Amino acid sequence: MQSERPCILVSNDDGVDAAGIKALHSELSSIGNVTVVAPDRERSAASHSLTLQVPIRAHRLSENVISVDGTPTDCIMLAFKNLLESKPDIVVSGINRGANMGDDITYSGTVAAAMEATLLGAPAIAVSLERNSNGDYDYTAAARIAREISLEVLKRGLPDGILLNVNVPSLPSEKIRGIKITRLGKQVYEDLIIEQTDPRGKPYYWIGGQQETWSIEPNTDYTAVADGFVSITPIHLDLTDYRTFALLEGWELDSITEAAGGKTDRQGEDT
Ligand code: MN
Repeated sequence: MQSERPCILVSNDDGVDAAGIKALHSELSSIGNVTVVAPDRERSAASHSLTLQVPIRAHRLSENVISVDGTPTDCIMLAFKNLLESKPDIVVSGINRGANMGDDITYSGTVAAAMEATLLGAPAIAVSLERNSNGDYDYTAAARIAREISLEVLKRGLPDGILLNVNVPSLPSEKIRGIKITRLGKQVYEDLIIEQTDPRGKPYYWIGGQQETWSIEPNTDYTAVADGFVSITPIHLDLTDYRTFALLEGWELDSITEAAGGKTDRQGEDT
């Protein structure tokens, strides 16, 4: 008996024409019916932003490729609510041109597309490829890894509110040493903003200057990729830090309320 092919939604933040999304589309077509809904141009570092001030339009470029003049999050929302016939079985975002590790994931449109899918109730993974020493990218190995992880997610599902952030080292398939489950690493930001002077003598600023420096800590996404492993970081969309509850409860919360002119409501306490 032939089981039904899964419906796979693919998006990214590098734009619908990026080599990474094409590699992903082609590789995932071997395991399911792929629909691509992606920004019409590069929207890297768009984070989880939505377009609210102007209308957005979708253009069908081919039977199953649609470009949207919006952010990655717009693309996912539009795909789920209007463009797809039914909810996809999985959403795969990427393959991003460049790793998305550590604090960088909070800026990433690639990860945000997976976040939006997670919020809308579909299992999602974000896949990014490390830049090689020549500054370019070969998506072959990363696309195969994305396919295999997608198959596993399709088979097993993911817990509610959890997405997988996958980073692939810039190595050919046979040189990849394995997969590590990791936590987010920490980048040391140096010379992050370059200040220059424009022809009219006024300063301008360019964000994303010099080189990246990472603190070397065990079990992080950065260390895994640097050691030649694929990194999978499970990301929870509940950003609450439960460990800090006790700390905040030690603050003078009543005096904050009272200093702001409010009353402290003790009902329900110490009865
Ligand atoms: Mn990008």
